[in-house]
Amino acid sequence: MSIGEVYNKIKNEIPENVTLICVSKTRQISEIKEAYESGARDFGENKVQEFLEKYDNIEKDSRWHFIGHLQTNKVKYIVGKVHLIHSLDSIHLLKEIEKRYASKNEIANVLIQINIGKEATKTGIAVDEMDDLINACEECNNVKVRGLMATIPIGDDESSSKYFAKMKAIFDNLKNYKYKNISMEFLSLGMSKDFSIALENGANMIRLGEKIFGKRDYKKQEVI
Ligand SMILES: *Cc1c(COP(=O)(O)O)cnc(C)c1O
Repeated sequence: MSIGEVYNKIKNEIPENVTLICVSKTRQISEIKEAYESGARDFGENKVQEFLEKYDNIEKDSRWHFIGHLQTNKVKYIVGKVHLIHSLDSIHLLKEIEKRYASKNEIANVLIQINIGKEATKTGIAVDEMDDLINACEECNNVKVRGLMATIPIGDDESSSKYFAKMKAIFDNLKNYKYKNISMEFLSLGMSKDFSIALENGANMIRLGEKIFGKRDYKKQEVI
């Protein structure tokens, strides 16, 4: 199946309220355009430099999701260009986003990324650090938290389901509170191998790379 056929097949299988993000990291402009021609508008990138090169070459009605770890010194490059930052994971980063977006009079829409599996190798905030981050978000003027994101530990379906359910519980709990600048609208969970389980557990944003574009070849990454 072509990229467009796979995109349309998945799009037809998932509920209408679910945002399907085509994770285009390492992919060529031509491949992204193929998805775009089939109707895809939401694209995910995890590196600022790569994102910027693609941003200039893809139709402007596309919505770019920044899904990788965001270094504070790179925030200034993405202001006004990214639809949603999925990876707010520290107060330090929050303050930089607030500062850079304020200076350009822009609003940053972000998801808080949670390290739900407590994995040492992964970014994302620990559940018990959430309160401090939420308090800091309430102090902002140019940052709006729109939901939560996680990548879960590798495991079988049962393990995946358990972590997704934990995320859904945190999401639902936060919905009960009226925090300034914080609304729980988007739950970004699920990748190529586990998106069906994520959907069963209440995800309404899924991030699919290989499922749509085929296997990634990181050696090709430089040639875009
Ligand atoms: C690469 C990536 C994805 C997509 O992974 P696939 O397994 O190709 O679907 C999703 N989310 C994040 C944060 C990623 O870095």
